[in-house]
Amino acid sequence: MTKSHTRPGEPWDAIVVGAGHNGLTAAAYLAKAGLSTLVLERRSIVGGACVTEEIAPGCRASTTSYIASMLRPEVIRDLDLPGHGLRMVPCDPALLVPFPDGSVAPWWSDRSRTVEELSKLSCADARTFVRVDDELKRLARYLQPFFLEPPPDVGARGLAGLLEALRLRKKFRGISGGEIGRMVSFLTGSLGDFLDRNYECEKVKTLFLANNVYGKHGGPYSPGTALGLLFHLLSGGEHGLQGFFGHVLGGMGAITQAMAAAAKEFGAEIRTGAPVARIAVRDGRARGVVLENGEEIAGRVVVSNADPKRTFLSLVEASALPEEFRRAVAGIKMDGPCAKVNLVLSEEPRVKGMPPDFTRSQRSLFTLVPSLEFAERCYNIARQGEIPEELWVDCVVASNVDPTLAPEGRHVMTCFVQYVPYRLKQGSWDENRELLGDRVVRKIGEYAPNVPGAVVARQVLTPLDLERTYGLTEGNIFHGDLSLEQLFFLRPVAGWARYRTPLLGLYLCGAGAHPGGGVTGAPGHNAARQLLRDWRRSAA
Ligand SMILES: Cc1cc2nc3c(=O)[nH]c(=O)nc-3n(C[C@H](O)[C@H](O)[C@H](O)COP(=O)(O)OP(=O)(O)OC[C@H]3O[C@@H](n4cnc5c(N)ncnc54)[C@H](O)[C@@H]3O)c2cc1C
Repeated sequence: MTKSHTRPGEPWDAIVVGAGHNGLTAAAYLAKAGLSTLVLERRSIVGGACVTEEIAPGCRASTTSYIASMLRPEVIRDLDLPGHGLRMVPCDPALLVPFPDGSVAPWWSDRSRTVEELSKLSCADARTFVRVDDELKRLARYLQPFFLEPPPDVGARGLAGLLEALRLRKKFRGISGGEIGRMVSFLTGSLGDFLDRNYECEKVKTLFLANNVYGKHGGPYSPGTALGLLFHLLSGGEHGLQGFFGHVLGGMGAITQAMAAAAKEFGAEIRTGAPVARIAVRDGRARGVVLENGEEIAGRVVVSNADPKRTFLSLVEASALPEEFRRAVAGIKMDGPCAKVNLVLSEEPRVKGMPPDFTRSQRSLFTLVPSLEFAERCYNIARQGEIPEELWVDCVVASNVDPTLAPEGRHVMTCFVQYVPYRLKQGSWDENRELLGDRVVRKIGEYAPNVPGAVVARQVLTPLDLERTYGLTEGNIFHGDLSLEQLFFLRPVAGWARYRTPLLGLYLCGAGAHPGGGVTGAPGHNAARQLLRDWRRSAA
């Protein structure tokens, strides 16, 4: 059943503020269910932090997110994203770390091949890897169902409380006491302590590090950083493989282009270049939106894909929300700790130690972080408001996998930088943008000496640029840090984890809602489901 908005003056059933991948996912599900749905995006393109953009003539890059790992298989299927052009190919190796001694360690998607690589470093670690991998995958399966459902309602009482307890029990059926203990330690413990307890070889530990803590606050020895080990083993991609890492042909924007096409096919309308100035409130209910140009658009419900701080502290007038709720939102930890540098190169990077028999696509990624201690130091410097001299950089030569991204003789490489401050102790990001770019290129040059001389174009996105250009408050790539005190029933804030908000008729559908950030489509899917339940109930 699809319904388009045909009669002028009639309110839309649903207005979605923001065409990030979660806004588009929510819109597609709402339109599919028959609600007339309008999506309003402030930028001139859809996709939010999941886009492909031209960074030099003829050269296109995934300017922000760059690897698809946790996109929900259900969303891919329900929206028929492959039917709308989405093609993903597994990253293989899923990751590769070059070390300062000129050696490289790859992590293959085929476990036995990874075990073989690890046994070259330490036979004991290779054996431990199998045991730990089995255990992590088993534990991740307990968390998996929570991804596409609202988080546990810890406030439920009476019959609702009983049903909620039963729901939880069902999810954890068969879990042993030992597994509960280990689950708690993954949720609360540090990645560094976990690795030190289980592995002896520094290079093996670094391989795990290179796959974790991205976008998060905290060095590898900070509590809560072990959680990423489980998150990355949630299944993803078209075939729901545990630990899937995928390159997207056409760049990450191909995901959101496919989502937009699906939403439109279901009847949704999408307007770009339409920044929402505020959410209109009358008689204690969201009634639509007012654009920055003054245009008023009426809607029966409003769904915000903007992050929680932007939604509740700038789009909704203060008097429409309880003061306590606004205070809780203001307290959400954001101050994004990452940046991105996108490069166009005249030559493919020649990484020292890269095996000569590797194919082009096997040479498409490498992570520059030599040790846990290096990462810890880097975080500690960044949290003091300084830009570390020595940076952790995750590089993907996307044009090695998809040559259509760059013309002959050009290569596109995206470089994610982990651990820079949002708030600088001295100076501004406008003054320090090029310094960051220089440090990133210098670091890459230590491992791939031909890169500094091959840079043809460079785009540096500081945390401030992520805020200004992509609308991510404080440059936080996940709409709020993914720490335990901001997850599950505490996301975005305690008491409001089920996509509804204290303002009737307003829902939150972005990464600031459960289960959080990353290109998953899960918050958008879950928010639409919650809204539709409420919609049917109110119509009954
Ligand atoms: C540099 C970087 C690297 C990343 N790398 C990865 C990665 O490799 N893999 C991965 O899975 N995830 C990655 N992420 C995280 C992931 O991209 C995000 O968590 C996710 O895309 C958020 O999606 P969203 O739809 O919830 O929000 P967003 O993508 O932030 O979309 C929100 C949309 O709302 C719009 N908007 C905001 N305010 C208004 C308004 N007032 N009016 C109209 N529109 C408005 C914004 O313009 C934006 O389009 C990365 C993010 C960044 C920034």
